[in-house]
Parts: sequence; structure tokens; C-alpha cells
Amino acid sequence: MVFNDDQRALQDTVRRFSRERLLPDYQKREKLGVLDRALVAEMGQLGLLGADLPEALGGMGADAVTTGMIIEELAYGDFNIAAVSLGISLNGAILVRHGHPDLVAEWVPRMTRGEAVIAICLTEPRGGSDASNLQLRARRDGDHYVLNGEKTSITFADRADGYLVFARTGAADEGAKGVSAFFVPASTPGISTTRFDDVGSAIIGRGSVFLDDVRIPLNHRLGDEGKGFSQVMQGFDYSRALIGVQCCGAAQASLDEAWAYSKEREAFGVPIGQFQGVSFPLAEGESQIEAVRQLCYHTLALRDAGLPHTREAAMCKWMGPRNGFDVIHQCLLTFGHYGWSKDLAHQQRMRDVMGLEIGDGTASVMKLIIARERIGRVAVQY
Ligand SMILES: Cc1cc2nc3c(=O)[nH]c(=O)nc-3n(C[C@H](O)[C@H](O)[C@H](O)COP(=O)(O)OP(=O)(O)OC[C@H]3O[C@@H](n4cnc5c(N)ncnc54)[C@H](O)[C@@H]3O)c2cc1C
Repeated sequence: MVFNDDQRALQDTVRRFSRERLLPDYQKREKLGVLDRALVAEMGQLGLLGADLPEALGGMGADAVTTGMIIEELAYGDFNIAAVSLGISLNGAILVRHGHPDLVAEWVPRMTRGEAVIAICLTEPRGGSDASNLQLRARRDGDHYVLNGEKTSITFADRADGYLVFARTGAADEGAKGVSAFFVPASTPGISTTRFDDVGSAIIGRGSVFLDDVRIPLNHRLGDEGKGFSQVMQGFDYSRALIGVQCCGAAQASLDEAWAYSKEREAFGVPIGQFQGVSFPLAEGESQIEAVRQLCYHTLALRDAGLPHTREAAMCKWMGPRNGFDVIHQCLLTFGHYGWSKDLAHQQRMRDVMGLEIGDGTASVMKLIIARERIGRVAVQY
């Protein structure tokens, strides 16, 4: 991908912000374990949240490629802060496309200003891969819906300002056809949350969301009744490509640090970078990340051109975290015993990136999507 002059100028700005403002405190933020809302608001002011959303709603009306570039640069400094921006792009687009105008006018500007973080609630305790096979119910009651059930493994669970909830409005045996999507403000009575003690991504967190007779007005439904799953899930092709570049950003940070170290650190009287046993694995990592990066930007460019990109997005989603993790691991090893210390960021990046080998669909599910695109339903018929 060759960025144009405007994209390169924006890239310089985001790069400076990420390296000067995010990178130095990436590890400190994990220790604190809280999402720095003032930092998120600052990013909103700089236009780094929901850049792809309409200008009238606080975005920049940027294309998918430009948004990907922003996410990649942010992830270089802090993988989890990039996830906040990514979530605002994904959820903002879902609201704009499927939400009632009143809902959009109230919430999307708050999101782009960094004042509201929205969680996506799809996974339930009985499983996430078979995503449409969900049980949480939404019952129509006059001019309201009443939601009951549990969502689990939800990013931002205990710190979100609103939830995008998938619920069953049809019969249990209707599968995806009986699923609708709803927007539920976190302040709605009947919601409670828990928080998990996770391997990584502490500042954005993960937990369960319980909905106990949660009443929301009809205009909080997103998309048509019974069509929420198929309509809203289309947005996930976008987030899968963005996740790919997010992982590339984190891996590039570790690569840059490892290359620099290979020039400074000496063994046997010479810089370790002189040993091909040190430089070749880094050269391979550089190649892997560049290949995944180009795949991701190609996928985002297909999206911008209005062309199908489901297959490519699934490739980005499994290859990004997998390659990102492997490359960061190699960088950690380059630092010898220092790499094993929590003083360096590689271990944190590895843990953070690994979460997306599961979150938003596992590698196996992504490969099922790719196989289905090639051989149709035969690839997923049980
Ligand atoms: C960091 C993180 C963030 C997350 N954030 C969110 C969120 O914000 N919102 C949300 O709704 N969910 C979220 N999730 C949940 C995530 O989407 C699910 O964990 C994921 O979809 C897998 O579901 P599961 O964990 O129930 O595994 P299961 O579906 O129980 O699968 C278990 C294992 O079996 C494999 N498997 C299942 N079916 C098949 C098959 N057909 N072929 C081959 N292998 C198969 C899976 O790959 C997996 O390895 C998050 C998870 C993580 C780790």
C-alpha cells in the first residue's frame, strides 16, 4: 500500500502522538489496570477516534485504509489504546448504519469525542464460535423490549457506557434468523457486570454482563427485528482487517526495539546484529509483518472500493495475531535474559496480541470462513 500525501501527513501526526504520548506509559497503564479516560478524550480532540465516521458526528469521513493506518500507528504505542479507537470505528459504523437517528445523534458524537465507550455483547457462557446459537432473550412489551440473560467474555464489560447486545427475538430453533441487535445504555436499570483476571489487555478488561429485566425503548433496536445478526455482523469484516493492522503495529514496535538492540549489544566482541542467527530471524519477522500488513491494507482497500472482502478479512484476523505473537516472541528472545524481564514491553505485547487469537473469533473459525468462501456450505455443515 502506498499512502498518498494527505495520508502520510496524518501518519506523521499519529506516529508522533503514539511514540511520544502512548509508548512511554504502555506498561505503566497495564499496572494501573484502568482505562485513562482523559487520554481517550485527548485522542478524541485530535480526531483519532472514529476517523471513518461522518464529520457531522465528529469523525473525519476517512476511508477504511486511512482508519487502518491510524489504528496501526496507535498500536505501535499501545495495543489496548488502539483497541479503543478500533471499537469506536466498529460500533460507530454499526450505529450509523443501523441505529435510529435519535440514538445516533445522542451517542456517536460522544464516542468520537472519547466520552463514551461501547461494548459488543455477542458471546454467551455456552460458547462463542457458534455465535448465532445464542439464548439471551428480548421480549416485546408494548413500546419497549425487555432483555434477560447473560453475556460473557465481553471487552469493556465493566467500563462501557453502552452495550450493543445480540438477543433472541425469534424461536430458539431459528438460528441467526431469530436474532436481533439492541443498543443498551449502561445506566439502564437491571444491568450488572463482573471483571475477569486476564492474561493481558488489563486496561480494557473483559467480563460478564448480566441483563435482568432490562427495559429499552423500541428505537434502541439496531436493524430489523430478527435480522440483527446478519445485518450487524457484516461490520465484522471491517474490524477483522483493523485487528490485523493493530497486531502489525505492536509487532513493529518490538521489531524496531530488537533491531536497535542488535546494534548495541555485544557478544564475542562484536554487536550481536553481526550474527545471522540474530539478524535473520528479525529479517523473517520483518517480512512476515510486511506481508500481513499489505494483506490488511489490500482488504481495507477492497472495502473502500465496495468490493467483497469477507475471505481476505478472515485471513487478516487469523494471520495478524498469529504472526504478531510469533514475531514479538522472537524479539523478546533477541534481548536474551533482559527479554524475560517485565521491565521490557515484549512480554506485555505478546500477551495483549494473543488475546486476539481468540477474541472476535478464533483462527479455526476464520479458516472455516475462508473454506466456506471456496467450497460453500459443505465447509460448515455439521
Ligand atoms: C481478549 C478477548 C476479547 C473478547 N471480546 C469479546 C467481546 O467484546 N464481545 C464478545 O461477544 N465476545 C468477546 N470475546 C469472546 C470471543 O469472541 C470468543 O471467546 C470466541 O468467539 C470463541 O468462543 P469460545 O471462547 O466460547 O470458544 P468455543 O466456541 O467454546 O471454542 C473452543 C475451541 O474450539 C474451537 N472450535 C469451535 N468450533 C470449531 C469448529 N467448528 N472448527 C474448529 N474449531 C472449532 C475454537 O477455535 C476454540 O479453540 C473475547 C474473547 C477474548 C479472548
